Amino acid sequence: MRLTRPAVPLPLQGHVAARAEAGPVMSDAIETLTLSKDVKEIPPKAADLSAWYTAVCLKAELASYSPVRGCVVLRPYGYGLWENLQKHLDAAFKETGHENAYFPLLIPESLLLKEAEHVEGFAPEVAWVTRGGQEELTEPLAIRPTSEVIIGVMYAQWVESYRDLPILINQWANVLRWEKATRPFLRTMEFLWQEGHTAHAHAQEAREETLRMLDVYREFAENVAAVPVYAGIKSASERFPGAVETFSIEALMPDGKALQSATSHDLGQNFAKAYDIKFLDADQQIKYAYTTSWGMSWRMLGAMIMTHGDDRGLRIPPKMAPLEAVFVPIVRSGDDRAVAASRDAAAALRKAGFRVKVDDRDQQPGWKYAEWDVRGVPVRIEIGPRDVESGSAVLVRRDRAKGDPEQKQTVPLDQLAQRLRALLEDIQASLYAQAKQFLDEHTFVVRDRDEFFAKAKARAGMIDIAWCGRPECEELVKAETGATTRNTRPLDEPGARCVACGEPATVRAYFAQSY
Ligand SMILES: [Zn+2]
Repeated sequence: MRLTRPAVPLPLQGHVAARAEAGPVMSDAIETLTLSKDVKEIPPKAADLSAWYTAVCLKAELASYSPVRGCVVLRPYGYGLWENLQKHLDAAFKETGHENAYFPLLIPESLLLKEAEHVEGFAPEVAWVTRGGQEELTEPLAIRPTSEVIIGVMYAQWVESYRDLPILINQWANVLRWEKATRPFLRTMEFLWQEGHTAHAHAQEAREETLRMLDVYREFAENVAAVPVYAGIKSASERFPGAVETFSIEALMPDGKALQSATSHDLGQNFAKAYDIKFLDADQQIKYAYTTSWGMSWRMLGAMIMTHGDDRGLRIPPKMAPLEAVFVPIVRSGDDRAVAASRDAAAALRKAGFRVKVDDRDQQPGWKYAEWDVRGVPVRIEIGPRDVESGSAVLVRRDRAKGDPEQKQTVPLDQLAQRLRALLEDIQASLYAQAKQFLDEHTFVVRDRDEFFAKAKARAGMIDIAWCGRPECEELVKAETGATTRNTRPLDEPGARCVACGEPATVRAYFAQSY
Protein backbone atom coordinates (compact mmCIF):
# COMPACT_ATOMS: atom_id res chain seq x y z
CA MET A 1 0.00 0.00 0.00
CA ARG A 2 1.30 3.46 -0.92
CA LEU A 3 0.62 6.63 0.92
CA THR A 4 -0.42 9.71 -0.97
CA ARG A 5 2.14 12.45 -0.83
CA PRO A 6 3.28 15.28 -3.08
CA ALA A 7 4.98 13.74 -6.09
CA VAL A 8 7.17 16.74 -6.93
CA PRO A 9 9.89 17.12 -4.35
CA LEU A 10 11.58 20.32 -5.61
CA PRO A 11 11.50 22.57 -2.60
CA LEU A 12 9.13 25.27 -3.77
CA GLN A 13 6.96 23.08 -5.94
CA GLY A 14 6.68 20.46 -3.23
CA HIS A 15 5.70 23.14 -0.78
CA VAL A 16 3.07 24.56 -3.10
CA ALA A 17 1.71 21.14 -3.97
CA ALA A 18 1.29 20.22 -0.32
CA ARG A 19 -0.46 23.48 0.42
CA ALA A 20 -2.69 23.26 -2.65
CA GLU A 21 -3.97 19.91 -1.44
CA ALA A 22 -5.05 21.52 1.76
CA GLY A 23 -7.47 23.92 0.07
CA PRO A 24 -7.86 27.68 0.29
CA VAL A 25 -4.78 28.70 2.16
CA MET A 26 -4.54 32.43 1.72
CA SER A 27 -8.03 33.31 2.89
CA ASP A 28 -7.42 31.31 6.07
CA ALA A 29 -4.14 33.03 6.71
CA ILE A 30 -5.58 36.51 6.23
CA GLU A 31 -8.54 35.81 8.44
CA THR A 32 -6.45 34.37 11.26
CA LEU A 33 -3.91 37.16 11.18
CA THR A 34 -6.68 39.74 11.47
CA LEU A 35 -8.24 37.84 14.35
CA SER A 36 -5.02 37.66 16.28
CA LYS A 37 -4.59 41.42 16.35
CA ASP A 38 -7.39 42.55 18.51
CA VAL A 39 -10.51 41.23 20.16
CA LYS A 40 -12.46 44.12 21.59
CA GLU A 41 -15.54 42.39 22.89
CA ILE A 42 -16.39 38.85 23.89
CA PRO A 43 -19.70 38.01 22.18
CA PRO A 44 -22.42 36.35 24.34
CA LYS A 45 -21.67 32.66 24.79
CA ALA A 46 -25.21 31.44 24.20
CA ALA A 47 -25.61 33.32 20.92
CA ASP A 48 -22.53 31.98 19.14
CA LEU A 49 -20.35 29.51 21.01
CA SER A 50 -17.79 29.40 18.24
CA ALA A 51 -17.25 33.17 18.13
CA TRP A 52 -17.25 33.30 21.94
CA TYR A 53 -14.66 30.54 22.10
CA THR A 54 -12.22 32.14 19.68
CA ALA A 55 -12.58 35.54 21.32
CA VAL A 56 -11.97 34.12 24.80
CA CYS A 57 -8.90 32.11 23.76
CA LEU A 58 -7.35 35.21 22.22
CA LYS A 59 -8.46 37.80 24.76
CA ALA A 60 -7.44 35.70 27.77
CA GLU A 61 -4.07 35.30 26.05
CA LEU A 62 -4.18 31.53 26.02
CA ALA A 63 -3.18 31.28 22.36
CA SER A 64 -2.42 33.31 19.26
CA TYR A 65 -2.82 32.36 15.66
CA SER A 66 0.54 32.07 13.94
CA PRO A 67 1.80 32.73 10.41
CA VAL A 68 1.98 28.94 10.03
CA ARG A 69 -1.36 27.77 8.70
CA GLY A 70 -3.05 25.36 11.07
CA CYS A 71 -0.70 26.06 13.95
CA VAL A 72 -1.27 28.19 17.03
CA VAL A 73 1.12 29.63 19.57
CA LEU A 74 0.48 28.62 23.15
CA ARG A 75 1.07 31.78 25.16
CA PRO A 76 2.37 31.63 28.75
CA TYR A 77 -1.09 31.68 30.33
CA GLY A 78 -2.27 28.88 28.03
CA TYR A 79 0.92 26.97 28.68
CA GLY A 80 0.23 27.32 32.40
CA LEU A 81 -3.03 25.39 31.84
CA TRP A 82 -1.13 22.74 29.92
CA GLU A 83 1.44 22.47 32.71
CA ASN A 84 -1.29 21.84 35.26
CA LEU A 85 -2.82 19.16 33.04
CA GLN A 86 0.64 17.60 32.74
CA LYS A 87 1.31 17.80 36.45
CA HIS A 88 -1.89 15.96 37.41
CA LEU A 89 -1.83 13.37 34.64
CA ASP A 90 1.87 12.67 34.99
CA ALA A 91 1.43 11.95 38.70
CA ALA A 92 -1.41 9.55 37.88
CA PHE A 93 0.71 7.79 35.23
CA LYS A 94 3.56 7.34 37.68
CA GLU A 95 1.22 6.08 40.39
CA THR A 96 0.08 3.40 37.95
CA GLY A 97 3.65 2.30 37.24
CA HIS A 98 4.55 4.21 34.07
CA GLU A 99 7.79 5.98 33.16
CA ASN A 100 8.40 8.78 30.66
CA ALA A 101 10.64 8.45 27.61
CA TYR A 102 11.08 10.23 24.28
CA PHE A 103 11.07 8.87 20.71
CA PRO A 104 11.94 10.47 17.33
CA LEU A 105 9.63 12.89 15.52
CA LEU A 106 10.30 11.32 12.09
CA ILE A 107 9.24 7.87 10.94
CA PRO A 108 10.69 6.19 7.82
CA GLU A 109 7.99 5.41 5.26
CA SER A 110 8.86 1.70 5.09
CA LEU A 111 8.16 1.29 8.81
CA LEU A 112 4.90 3.18 8.66
CA LEU A 113 3.62 0.89 5.88
CA LYS A 114 3.83 -2.27 7.95
CA GLU A 115 0.49 -2.05 9.75
CA ALA A 116 -1.97 -1.80 6.86
CA GLU A 117 -5.08 -0.65 8.71
CA HIS A 118 -3.12 1.89 10.72
CA VAL A 119 -1.55 3.34 7.57
CA GLU A 120 -4.84 3.53 5.74
CA GLY A 121 -6.46 5.34 8.65
CA PHE A 122 -3.73 7.95 8.97
CA ALA A 123 -2.68 8.38 5.31
CA PRO A 124 -4.77 11.50 4.62
CA GLU A 125 -3.30 13.28 7.65
CA VAL A 126 0.40 12.46 7.32
CA ALA A 127 2.92 15.18 6.39
CA TRP A 128 6.17 14.10 4.74
CA VAL A 129 9.77 15.22 4.73
CA THR A 130 11.20 14.46 1.31
CA ARG A 131 14.28 16.61 1.30
CA GLY A 132 17.14 17.34 3.72
CA GLY A 133 19.26 20.37 2.90
CA GLN A 134 20.07 20.02 -0.80
CA GLU A 135 19.64 16.29 -0.74
CA GLU A 136 16.65 14.36 -2.07
CA LEU A 137 15.84 11.64 0.47
CA THR A 138 15.85 8.09 -0.85
CA GLU A 139 13.18 7.26 1.69
CA PRO A 140 10.61 9.86 2.72
CA LEU A 141 10.14 10.47 6.43
CA ALA A 142 6.71 10.91 7.95
CA ILE A 143 6.22 13.47 10.70
CA ARG A 144 4.58 11.43 13.48
CA PRO A 145 0.79 11.65 13.52
CA THR A 146 1.08 9.26 16.52
CA SER A 147 3.93 6.99 17.62
CA GLU A 148 2.73 3.37 17.69
CA VAL A 149 5.08 2.61 14.80
CA ILE A 150 8.38 3.99 16.03
CA ILE A 151 7.72 2.81 19.58
CA GLY A 152 6.67 -0.66 18.39
CA VAL A 153 9.92 -0.97 16.43
CA MET A 154 11.93 -0.14 19.53
CA TYR A 155 9.93 -2.49 21.79
CA ALA A 156 10.72 -5.31 19.34
CA GLN A 157 14.41 -4.65 20.03
CA TRP A 158 14.01 -4.41 23.79
CA VAL A 159 11.81 -7.42 24.48
CA GLU A 160 13.27 -10.91 24.49
CA SER A 161 11.76 -12.75 27.41
CA TYR A 162 8.54 -12.62 29.40
CA ARG A 163 10.76 -11.16 32.13
CA ASP A 164 11.09 -7.97 30.03
CA LEU A 165 7.33 -7.44 30.20
CA PRO A 166 5.31 -5.41 30.80
CA ILE A 167 6.83 -2.25 29.31
CA LEU A 168 4.93 0.78 30.60
CA ILE A 169 6.07 3.99 28.90
CA ASN A 170 4.51 7.40 28.35
CA GLN A 171 5.74 10.15 26.06
CA TRP A 172 4.89 13.87 26.30
CA ALA A 173 5.21 15.15 22.75
CA ASN A 174 3.90 17.11 19.81
CA VAL A 175 2.32 15.37 16.83
CA LEU A 176 1.24 16.65 13.45
CA ARG A 177 -1.89 15.81 11.46
CA TRP A 178 -2.74 17.63 8.25
CA GLU A 179 -5.82 19.69 9.11
CA LYS A 180 -7.67 22.32 7.12
CA ALA A 181 -9.41 24.15 9.93
CA THR A 182 -7.73 25.95 12.81
CA ARG A 183 -9.34 26.34 16.21
CA PRO A 184 -7.12 26.73 19.23
CA PHE A 185 -6.91 23.42 21.20
CA LEU A 186 -9.77 21.83 19.26
CA ARG A 187 -8.39 21.50 15.76
CA THR A 188 -4.82 22.35 14.88
CA MET A 189 -2.25 20.73 12.65
CA GLU A 190 0.42 20.44 15.31
CA PHE A 191 -0.74 19.74 18.82
CA LEU A 192 0.58 18.76 22.23
CA TRP A 193 -0.41 15.53 23.87
CA GLN A 194 0.81 12.56 25.80
CA GLU A 195 0.78 9.07 24.38
CA GLY A 196 1.19 6.01 26.55
CA HIS A 197 2.44 2.79 24.95
CA THR A 198 2.58 -0.50 26.79
CA ALA A 199 3.43 -4.09 25.95
CA HIS A 200 2.23 -7.12 27.90
CA ALA A 201 2.58 -10.89 27.92
CA HIS A 202 -1.16 -11.59 28.18
CA ALA A 203 -4.30 -10.32 26.48
CA GLN A 204 -6.12 -9.92 29.76
CA GLU A 205 -3.35 -7.76 31.20
CA ALA A 206 -3.40 -5.48 28.14
CA ARG A 207 -7.18 -5.09 28.42
CA GLU A 208 -6.88 -4.23 32.11
CA GLU A 209 -4.24 -1.62 31.29
CA THR A 210 -6.50 -0.09 28.62
CA LEU A 211 -9.34 0.25 31.10
CA ARG A 212 -7.10 1.47 33.92
CA MET A 213 -5.86 4.37 31.77
CA LEU A 214 -9.39 5.17 30.59
CA ASP A 215 -10.27 5.55 34.23
CA VAL A 216 -7.24 7.76 34.88
CA TYR A 217 -8.58 10.04 32.13
CA ARG A 218 -12.13 10.01 33.49
CA GLU A 219 -10.84 10.83 36.93
CA PHE A 220 -8.72 13.70 35.59
CA ALA A 221 -11.56 15.12 33.48
CA GLU A 222 -14.04 15.04 36.36
CA ASN A 223 -11.91 15.78 39.41
CA VAL A 224 -9.34 18.19 37.98
CA ALA A 225 -10.85 19.81 34.86
CA ALA A 226 -14.35 19.55 36.42
CA VAL A 227 -15.73 18.22 33.14
CA PRO A 228 -18.15 15.28 33.54
CA VAL A 229 -17.80 12.59 30.88
CA TYR A 230 -19.26 9.34 29.66
CA ALA A 231 -16.73 6.52 29.38
CA GLY A 232 -17.35 3.65 26.99
CA ILE A 233 -16.38 1.66 23.91
CA LYS A 234 -16.10 3.24 20.46
CA SER A 235 -18.08 1.72 17.59
CA ALA A 236 -16.15 -0.10 14.85
CA SER A 237 -16.19 2.91 12.54
CA GLU A 238 -14.86 5.21 15.24
CA ARG A 239 -12.16 2.78 16.36
CA PHE A 240 -8.47 3.74 16.24
CA PRO A 241 -6.92 2.33 13.03
CA GLY A 242 -5.25 -0.94 13.99
CA ALA A 243 -6.92 -1.35 17.39
CA VAL A 244 -8.95 -4.33 18.58
CA GLU A 245 -11.04 -2.04 20.78
CA THR A 246 -11.01 1.70 21.43
CA PHE A 247 -12.43 3.25 24.58
CA SER A 248 -13.13 6.95 25.04
CA ILE A 249 -14.37 9.57 27.41
CA GLU A 250 -16.89 11.99 25.90
CA ALA A 251 -17.92 15.37 27.24
CA LEU A 252 -20.94 17.45 26.20
CA MET A 253 -20.38 21.05 25.14
CA PRO A 254 -22.92 23.86 25.69
CA ASP A 255 -23.98 23.78 22.03
CA GLY A 256 -25.11 20.16 22.36
CA LYS A 257 -22.11 18.73 20.55
CA ALA A 258 -19.98 16.01 22.12
CA LEU A 259 -16.25 16.35 22.49
CA GLN A 260 -14.06 13.25 22.64
CA SER A 261 -11.62 14.11 25.40
CA ALA A 262 -9.28 11.09 25.52
CA THR A 263 -8.97 7.60 24.07
CA SER A 264 -7.45 4.32 25.24
CA HIS A 265 -6.78 1.50 22.77
CA ASP A 266 -6.41 -2.22 23.20
CA LEU A 267 -4.23 -3.04 20.19
CA GLY A 268 -4.28 -6.81 20.72
CA GLN A 269 -1.39 -8.41 18.82
CA ASN A 270 -1.89 -6.31 15.65
CA PHE A 271 1.08 -4.01 16.17
CA ALA A 272 3.19 -6.73 17.79
CA LYS A 273 2.78 -8.83 14.63
CA ALA A 274 3.45 -5.91 12.28
CA TYR A 275 6.55 -4.78 14.21
CA ASP A 276 7.70 -8.14 15.50
CA ILE A 277 7.38 -7.62 19.25
CA LYS A 278 8.01 -11.23 20.31
CA PHE A 279 9.14 -12.84 23.53
CA LEU A 280 10.12 -16.21 24.90
CA ASP A 281 7.43 -17.11 27.42
CA ALA A 282 7.93 -19.15 30.62
CA ASP A 283 6.66 -22.23 28.75
CA GLN A 284 9.56 -21.86 26.23
CA GLN A 285 7.19 -20.80 23.44
CA ILE A 286 7.86 -17.72 21.29
CA LYS A 287 4.80 -15.45 21.49
CA TYR A 288 3.69 -12.05 20.26
CA ALA A 289 3.14 -9.39 22.90
CA TYR A 290 -0.16 -7.55 23.45
CA THR A 291 0.08 -3.79 23.25
CA THR A 292 -1.98 -0.76 24.24
CA SER A 293 -1.83 2.95 23.56
CA TRP A 294 -3.71 5.86 25.12
CA GLY A 295 -3.68 9.60 24.73
CA MET A 296 -5.04 12.90 25.93
CA SER A 297 -4.22 16.12 24.08
CA TRP A 298 -4.67 19.82 24.70
CA ARG A 299 -8.19 19.31 23.31
CA MET A 300 -9.09 18.65 26.94
CA LEU A 301 -8.32 22.32 27.58
CA GLY A 302 -10.80 23.24 24.84
CA ALA A 303 -13.44 21.11 26.58
CA MET A 304 -12.71 22.82 29.89
CA ILE A 305 -12.88 26.31 28.38
CA MET A 306 -16.22 25.71 26.65
CA THR A 307 -17.77 23.87 29.59
CA HIS A 308 -17.13 26.50 32.25
CA GLY A 309 -16.70 29.88 30.55
CA ASP A 310 -19.37 32.58 30.71
CA ASP A 311 -20.10 35.92 29.06
CA ARG A 312 -17.28 37.58 31.03
CA GLY A 313 -14.68 35.06 29.82
CA LEU A 314 -13.00 32.00 31.27
CA ARG A 315 -13.89 30.33 34.54
CA ILE A 316 -10.99 28.04 35.33
CA PRO A 317 -11.43 25.23 37.87
CA PRO A 318 -8.96 25.98 40.69
CA LYS A 319 -6.97 22.76 40.23
CA MET A 320 -6.24 23.75 36.63
CA ALA A 321 -5.73 27.48 37.22
CA PRO A 322 -2.25 28.88 36.59
CA LEU A 323 -3.21 31.45 39.24
CA GLU A 324 -5.61 30.47 42.00
CA ALA A 325 -6.04 34.04 43.23
CA VAL A 326 -4.99 37.54 42.26
CA PHE A 327 -4.63 40.43 44.69
CA VAL A 328 -5.91 43.77 43.49
CA PRO A 329 -4.78 46.44 45.99
CA ILE A 330 -6.86 49.60 45.96
CA VAL A 331 -4.63 52.62 46.18
CA ARG A 332 -6.20 55.95 47.20
CA SER A 333 -4.39 59.31 46.81
CA GLY A 334 -0.86 58.22 47.58
CA ASP A 335 -1.90 55.77 50.31
CA ASP A 336 -0.20 52.60 49.10
CA ARG A 337 -0.43 50.60 52.34
CA ALA A 338 -2.79 48.25 50.46
CA VAL A 339 0.04 47.31 48.09
CA ALA A 340 2.36 46.45 50.96
CA ALA A 341 -0.39 44.48 52.75
CA SER A 342 -1.16 42.58 49.53
CA ARG A 343 2.47 41.70 48.99
CA ASP A 344 2.82 40.42 52.55
CA ALA A 345 -0.35 38.35 52.32
CA ALA A 346 0.68 36.97 48.89
CA ALA A 347 4.09 35.96 50.20
CA ALA A 348 2.46 34.09 53.09
CA LEU A 349 0.05 32.32 50.72
CA ARG A 350 2.87 31.32 48.38
CA LYS A 351 4.70 29.84 51.32
CA ALA A 352 1.58 27.83 52.08
CA GLY A 353 1.64 26.45 48.51
CA PHE A 354 -0.88 28.72 46.74
CA ARG A 355 -0.40 30.08 43.21
CA VAL A 356 -1.07 33.80 43.65
CA LYS A 357 -0.02 37.15 42.22
CA VAL A 358 -0.29 40.82 43.18
CA ASP A 359 -1.54 43.02 40.36
CA ASP A 360 0.11 46.33 41.26
CA ARG A 361 0.10 47.76 37.74
CA ASP A 362 -0.76 51.42 37.34
CA GLN A 363 -4.37 50.85 36.21
CA GLN A 364 -7.84 51.43 37.65
CA PRO A 365 -9.10 48.53 39.86
CA GLY A 366 -12.18 48.13 37.63
CA TRP A 367 -9.99 47.62 34.60
CA LYS A 368 -8.04 44.95 36.46
CA TYR A 369 -11.20 43.20 37.68
CA ALA A 370 -12.42 42.88 34.10
CA GLU A 371 -9.09 41.54 32.91
CA TRP A 372 -8.85 38.86 35.61
CA ASP A 373 -12.48 37.97 34.95
CA VAL A 374 -11.63 37.32 31.28
CA ARG A 375 -8.73 35.17 32.38
CA GLY A 376 -10.95 33.21 34.73
CA VAL A 377 -8.80 33.41 37.87
CA PRO A 378 -10.98 31.64 40.48
CA VAL A 379 -10.63 34.24 43.26
CA ARG A 380 -9.87 37.95 43.32
CA ILE A 381 -8.61 39.35 46.61
CA GLU A 382 -9.34 43.04 47.10
CA ILE A 383 -7.51 45.01 49.76
CA GLY A 384 -8.22 48.73 50.22
CA PRO A 385 -7.13 51.28 52.84
CA ARG A 386 -10.09 50.45 55.10
CA ASP A 387 -9.30 46.72 54.87
CA VAL A 388 -5.71 47.48 55.87
CA GLU A 389 -7.02 49.23 58.98
CA SER A 390 -9.39 46.41 59.91
CA GLY A 391 -6.89 43.69 58.99
CA SER A 392 -9.15 42.06 56.44
CA ALA A 393 -9.56 41.37 52.72
CA VAL A 394 -12.49 40.82 50.39
CA LEU A 395 -12.57 37.52 48.50
CA VAL A 396 -14.53 37.64 45.24
CA ARG A 397 -15.32 34.35 43.57
CA ARG A 398 -15.21 34.27 39.77
CA ASP A 399 -17.69 31.43 39.38
CA ARG A 400 -20.63 33.48 40.74
CA ALA A 401 -22.45 36.17 38.80
CA LYS A 402 -21.97 39.82 39.65
CA GLY A 403 -24.43 40.78 42.38
CA ASP A 404 -24.85 37.21 43.65
CA PRO A 405 -25.00 37.55 47.47
CA GLU A 406 -22.36 34.83 47.79
CA GLN A 407 -19.97 36.40 45.32
CA LYS A 408 -18.04 38.36 47.96
CA GLN A 409 -16.94 37.68 51.52
CA THR A 410 -14.83 39.67 53.95
CA VAL A 411 -12.14 37.60 55.60
CA PRO A 412 -9.66 38.43 58.42
CA LEU A 413 -6.14 38.46 56.96
CA ASP A 414 -4.90 36.05 59.62
CA GLN A 415 -7.41 33.46 58.35
CA LEU A 416 -6.73 34.07 54.68
CA ALA A 417 -5.02 30.76 53.87
CA GLN A 418 -7.69 28.48 55.32
CA ARG A 419 -10.59 30.58 54.02
CA LEU A 420 -9.06 30.71 50.54
CA ARG A 421 -8.44 26.95 50.55
CA ALA A 422 -12.05 26.26 51.48
CA LEU A 423 -13.30 28.70 48.88
CA LEU A 424 -11.20 27.15 46.10
CA GLU A 425 -12.52 23.71 47.01
CA ASP A 426 -16.05 25.04 46.89
CA ILE A 427 -15.49 26.65 43.47
CA GLN A 428 -13.99 23.43 42.10
CA ALA A 429 -16.99 21.42 43.33
CA SER A 430 -19.49 24.02 42.21
CA LEU A 431 -18.14 24.20 38.64
CA TYR A 432 -18.30 20.43 38.40
CA ALA A 433 -21.84 20.37 39.79
CA GLN A 434 -23.03 22.93 37.23
CA ALA A 435 -21.46 20.99 34.37
CA LYS A 436 -22.87 17.70 35.67
CA GLN A 437 -26.33 19.21 35.90
CA PHE A 438 -26.04 20.38 32.30
CA LEU A 439 -24.95 16.93 31.15
CA ASP A 440 -27.77 15.24 33.07
CA GLU A 441 -30.36 17.65 31.73
CA HIS A 442 -29.10 17.12 28.18
CA THR A 443 -28.88 13.35 28.24
CA PHE A 444 -32.01 11.72 26.84
CA VAL A 445 -32.96 8.09 27.08
CA VAL A 446 -35.00 7.68 23.91
CA ARG A 447 -37.13 4.71 22.83
CA ASP A 448 -38.99 6.18 19.87
CA ARG A 449 -37.45 6.28 16.39
CA ASP A 450 -38.86 9.65 15.33
CA GLU A 451 -37.91 11.27 18.60
CA PHE A 452 -34.40 9.86 18.23
CA PHE A 453 -33.92 11.32 14.74
CA ALA A 454 -35.45 14.66 15.72
CA LYS A 455 -33.24 15.01 18.79
CA ALA A 456 -30.09 13.92 16.94
CA LYS A 457 -30.76 16.44 14.19
CA ALA A 458 -31.56 19.22 16.67
CA ARG A 459 -28.29 18.63 18.51
CA ALA A 460 -30.22 18.12 21.74
CA GLY A 461 -27.31 16.53 23.60
CA MET A 462 -26.29 12.95 24.39
CA ILE A 463 -29.00 10.66 23.10
CA ASP A 464 -28.94 7.31 24.81
CA ILE A 465 -30.51 4.44 22.84
CA ALA A 466 -30.51 0.68 22.54
CA TRP A 467 -28.47 0.16 19.36
CA CYS A 468 -27.79 -2.67 16.94
CA GLY A 469 -24.09 -1.85 16.59
CA ARG A 470 -24.18 -2.18 12.79
CA PRO A 471 -21.99 0.22 10.74
CA GLU A 472 -24.79 0.55 8.11
CA CYS A 473 -27.16 1.80 10.81
CA GLU A 474 -24.65 4.31 12.12
CA GLU A 475 -24.01 5.46 8.54
CA LEU A 476 -27.70 6.05 7.97
CA VAL A 477 -28.14 8.01 11.21
CA LYS A 478 -25.13 10.12 10.32
CA ALA A 479 -26.41 10.86 6.81
CA GLU A 480 -29.83 11.93 8.13
CA THR A 481 -28.84 13.78 11.28
CA GLY A 482 -25.09 14.43 11.37
CA ALA A 483 -24.87 12.50 14.65
CA THR A 484 -22.62 9.49 15.27
CA THR A 485 -22.14 7.12 18.17
CA ARG A 486 -19.91 8.65 20.82
CA ASN A 487 -19.44 5.46 22.78
CA THR A 488 -21.29 2.35 23.81
CA ARG A 489 -21.75 0.12 26.85
CA PRO A 490 -23.35 -3.25 27.55
CA LEU A 491 -27.04 -3.66 26.88
CA ASP A 492 -29.13 -3.78 30.05
CA GLU A 493 -32.40 -5.09 28.61
CA PRO A 494 -32.30 -8.40 26.78
CA GLY A 495 -34.51 -8.57 23.68
CA ALA A 496 -34.41 -4.79 23.09
CA ARG A 497 -34.58 -3.48 19.52
CA CYS A 498 -32.36 -0.83 17.94
CA VAL A 499 -34.21 2.47 18.27
CA ALA A 500 -32.73 3.71 14.97
CA CYS A 501 -33.44 0.72 12.70
CA GLY A 502 -35.50 -1.91 14.55
CA GLU A 503 -32.93 -4.72 14.29
CA PRO A 504 -32.01 -6.57 17.51
CA ALA A 505 -29.99 -4.30 19.81
CA THR A 506 -26.54 -5.41 20.99
CA VAL A 507 -25.39 -2.41 23.06
CA ARG A 508 -26.51 0.88 24.58
CA ALA A 509 -25.01 3.85 22.73
CA TYR A 510 -24.75 7.59 23.14
CA PHE A 511 -25.37 9.38 19.85
CA ALA A 512 -24.51 13.05 19.33
CA GLN A 513 -23.10 15.43 16.81
CA SER A 514 -19.49 15.99 17.69
CA TYR A 515 -16.44 18.21 17.43
ZN1 LIG B 1 -29.64 -0.07 14.16
